[in-house]
Amino acid sequence: MAETKHTGSWRDNLVRIDPYVAGEQRESSDVIKLNTNENPYPPSPGAALALRIFDVATLRRYPDAGAGALREVLADYHGTSAERIFAGNGSDEVLALAFRACFNSDLPVLFPDITYSFFPVWCNLFGIPFEQIPLNDSLRIGAYEYDRPNGGIVIANPNAPTGIGEGPEFIEYLLKTSKDSVVIIDEAYSDFGGYSAIPLTDKYENLLVVKSFSKSRALAGLRLGYCCGNETLISALNDVKNSFNSYTVSRPAAEVGRASVADEEYFREHLAKTMRIRYKSMNTLRGMGFFVPESLANFVFISHEDISAFDLYGFLRENGILVRHFDKPRIDNFLRISIGTEEDMNKLFEKILEYMDMRRA
Ligand SMILES: *Cc1c(COP(=O)(O)O)cnc(C)c1O
Repeated sequence: MAETKHTGSWRDNLVRIDPYVAGEQRESSDVIKLNTNENPYPPSPGAALALRIFDVATLRRYPDAGAGALREVLADYHGTSAERIFAGNGSDEVLALAFRACFNSDLPVLFPDITYSFFPVWCNLFGIPFEQIPLNDSLRIGAYEYDRPNGGIVIANPNAPTGIGEGPEFIEYLLKTSKDSVVIIDEAYSDFGGYSAIPLTDKYENLLVVKSFSKSRALAGLRLGYCCGNETLISALNDVKNSFNSYTVSRPAAEVGRASVADEEYFREHLAKTMRIRYKSMNTLRGMGFFVPESLANFVFISHEDISAFDLYGFLRENGILVRHFDKPRIDNFLRISIGTEEDMNKLFEKILEYMDMRRA
């Protein structure tokens, strides 16, 4: 009888992948945490109330696998229908499922060399071929570079970690030149003054726009994200989700998410506050000699000719301020700094000045 021999160790059969590395998470309240683009303000009062009055007894039952009530609220908010919305456990999950659902061509998926570092990780995890297209020297995405045979396009807009945002002409150019592939726009930061392509999903059936509750709605700990697009795309996403885990949006997440969307005034007010502090921060940092691209996100991306970004990162860390440094080609002399409260930012500027003085001495 023929026998299939099992050779080698079980270790040889384990996945080999370089995972995404998230920014350092610390609970201590005496650090100023400007490294993961969390919102410095609390979730809306309505969201807080929804959690406080949440009926714990309902947790004994599975949630609605389709997160219908939440999708209705989101559809209303964006002036579309619930059939065109898909919700998930954070936009990272929505993006991962979308990669699996939409990128199944032999042609490479295109995205910038400097962007959300999760994109290549998902491609590797799912065996999707990809090509990274260099940003130009001013860190902008050249739309015309994407006019080539591809198996899909994914763009973070505003881009991370640059903060630079593109408008409707840019997105429409991609959609018109790549009609035969899905274009995914990751709008994790678009609420902070950027352009949202959601209205374009009516006109282009190959467009999927992904949004997050983590940054603009101050609900990173809740894990909630969603996307909007043509019914056929949404249906493919549901097929992938239901082949993986049917219940990705928990009951509390759906409830709190709905309440957050209903608190429009609080939302607008706090976005405006963050944008105001962002403008001031960009000016202050430029005044100190930093190169600061115009940011439309809740962070700034900064570099200084005479300062090592890594050394400044270390100095700030020792002084209880966490910012993000990426040890990657082209951007290893940059720091990404989340916009905190006015007080947080003033402490940051104080410490940067102290560092600069120290080095001059
Ligand atoms: C933070 C972030 C996300 C993911 O957010 P979730 O917390 O998973 O909703 C997605 N894309 C970009 C570019 C991000 O910065």
